[in-house]
Amino acid sequence: MITKVNLEKKVLHENDRLAANIRTTLTAHKIFSLNLVSSPGSGKTSLLERTLKALGNDLNIGMIAGDVQTENDANRLIRAGGKIVKPLVTEGACHLDANMINNVLNEIDLKNIELLLIENVGNLVCPSSYDLGEDMKVVLISTTEGDDKPLKYPSMFRRSSVMVINKIDLLGTSDFDITRVKQNACSINPDLKIFELSCRSGEGLEKWYKWLKNQVN
Ligand code: MG
Ligand code: ZN
Repeated sequence: MITKVNLEKKVLHENDRLAANIRTTLTAHKIFSLNLVSSPGSGKTSLLERTLKALGNDLNIGMIAGDVQTENDANRLIRAGGKIVKPLVTEGACHLDANMINNVLNEIDLKNIELLLIENVGNLVCPSSYDLGEDMKVVLISTTEGDDKPLKYPSMFRRSSVMVINKIDLLGTSDFDITRVKQNACSINPDLKIFELSCRSGEGLEKWYKWLKNQVN
């Protein structure tokens, strides 16, 4: 057991070192970067599709689409107009790590991008431990999930700077209480910036776009 803990510490230490290098590189290229994390099905890819369609002409956006298997999400983003979209298939690993990101970034001409959006593997547990060198983590939660998720997965909400509540068009069709989810999330991390939106109806997306543009500029 002790050996396992030590090994994990070593892995995370090496990851942090590499992530720090990535952060330095991205900062040097004036690239603003986000690491999108959530359970499977919360709408990470949908939010990225919407973002590409709305901002793809104004901003040079690079995307890395992580998945355990298939390049389906990357293909969706290319169909949505993504010019620089890299699939990152983990072949079973349940999170992205800095080494994977480093390898993908080596294939991208960083001079051509100003916003880097990374879609992590759908998983609210270990992606919180792996720094990818991003500026901020964005955690998504949808109204079809439990509103106690911030309490169940505190580490993810603590380490995120932004929370996006997606699928607000479905509010009222389940017991999900949007006031309660915000209270739960803020009890873990009072500094969370919160967006309420629907990638399906489009409601609330303008605020997200505006915020994103401000961060880049
Ligand atoms: Mg996805
Ligand atoms: Zn994992």
